Amino acid sequence: MKNRFTRKSRTERSHIPKNFKKEIFERDRYICIYCKKNLDNKNEKPTLDHLIPISNHSGLNEKTNFVTSCLSCNQKKASIPIKEFAKNINIDLKDLPITGDLIIDNTDLPKQIRQIRKELFEKIRNEELLIGGRKSQKKIEKKYRENLTNSKLGQDLKNKFPTLPGPVRTMIPEIETIVSNKNDFNLLVELAKSANTRNLIGTIITKNCNVMDTLINITKKSNDKSLVKRINFAIARFKKIQS
Ligand SMILES: [Zn+2]
Repeated sequence: MKNRFTRKSRTERSHIPKNFKKEIFERDRYICIYCKKNLDNKNEKPTLDHLIPISNHSGLNEKTNFVTSCLSCNQKKASIPIKEFAKNINIDLKDLPITGDLIIDNTDLPKQIRQIRKELFEKIRNEELLIGGRKSQKKIEKKYRENLTNSKLGQDLKNKFPTLPGPVRTMIPEIETIVSNKNDFNLLVELAKSANTRNLIGTIITKNCNVMDTLINITKKSNDKSLVKRINFAIARFKKIQS
């Protein structure tokens, strides 16, 4: 269960699966993000580039940081920071799309929330915010929670859910886009209280899925004992509320 809330191991980072590459190329429609050259032909193969280089320990191995590039641009860019490279090739950093993020891509979420998230990524790309090194993904999530909490929306959430822990509160908008009834809402709130089960929300538990069935399925199939334990705790807490 690896995604935006977890950090990948060294081996996972060095190995990029073929279908992952294809997914990024298709997302970018086989067009070099830098020079706009069409790479959907036999003459030239697309390459995968880290928008923010990972060589200086600031880039992420996440979809948001992978882009399609022609070989020439990829080589020219090497490990030059994206801010500098954009200047070199005369493009506006703002014109480079941010895709692959669960919050930015979720059109069911309030616009303001997606904007808070987008601004965070823009700042990172622009080097106005230096989030790098180990646990960079965790740092991004922390900063996002901070920015959301300090916004008007964050204040509204605080008024609406005064007793919930801060990190859980910031998950509420995402939970609301998934659930269709109060029971599922309460169950996911309990789940969100367990730090390492939060990553299930939005990736495994998505819109229109049966939340309880999905969770029970994970407990039956997963080899991750501690995850199973946390899910069972969440279900138990939920049942206690129900009774
Ligand atoms: Zn190019």
